[in-house]
Amino acid sequence: MIKGFIVGLAVANAFEWVAHKYILHGTHRPGQPRYSPVPRSMKSHWEHHREVRKQHFADDGYVQGFSNWRTRNEVGSLAVVAVAATVVFYPVSKGMVAAAWYSAFNYYSIHRRAHLEPDWAKRKIPWHYDHQMNANQDANWCVTKPWFDYVMGTRVVSSDQLQEDNPLGIALPAAVAQALTQWVNQHFPAKYVEQKSKVIETEMHPERKIQTLAGE
Ligand SMILES: [Zn+2]
Ligand SMILES: [Zn+2]
Repeated sequence: MIKGFIVGLAVANAFEWVAHKYILHGTHRPGQPRYSPVPRSMKSHWEHHREVRKQHFADDGYVQGFSNWRTRNEVGSLAVVAVAATVVFYPVSKGMVAAAWYSAFNYYSIHRRAHLEPDWAKRKIPWHYDHQMNANQDANWCVTKPWFDYVMGTRVVSSDQLQEDNPLGIALPAAVAQALTQWVNQHFPAKYVEQKSKVIETEMHPERKIQTLAGE
């Protein structure tokens, strides 16, 4: 059960990455609107981006709750995904089913709180703050934890203040966090947005210059 649950958490994180990129943002098509298999969810999500950028990361849709169509769309979509995951995973692993429901509730609760309390979001899920407030909104696809952004090379950090303590995005003892960060930096390095104060940045973190160049 516990193994299935852990695998389920990883699958749910990968799904966050894929769904955010291909369903919520849609695929760019030259001369045509973006393509999404669920256009209503894509519309809702782009409205969310516009709202958030106007309001320093806050989204009143979460204050309004279910009277707001975007909140209903998000909760409804998560329920559909959780039910579909139950149908697919039930014969394989009850732990994966539990992980799917946990992940759906966790996604909504974290995403909602992030846009009600932007300062909390900056500290707890800086990757999502980067996703919506950075010049590049086509990166940092994960919301609850940044795992698959590291795996896929799409974690783009905009500043030292918006960098998680370690790539798991959970509280770890300092020594473990440091060892993990070092290992991930070697194998799945995050990228860094070019800073105006590039010289200072490189002097402080010479290894980042190499990573930034490697990502170009
Ligand atoms: Zn987005
Ligand atoms: Zn958001």
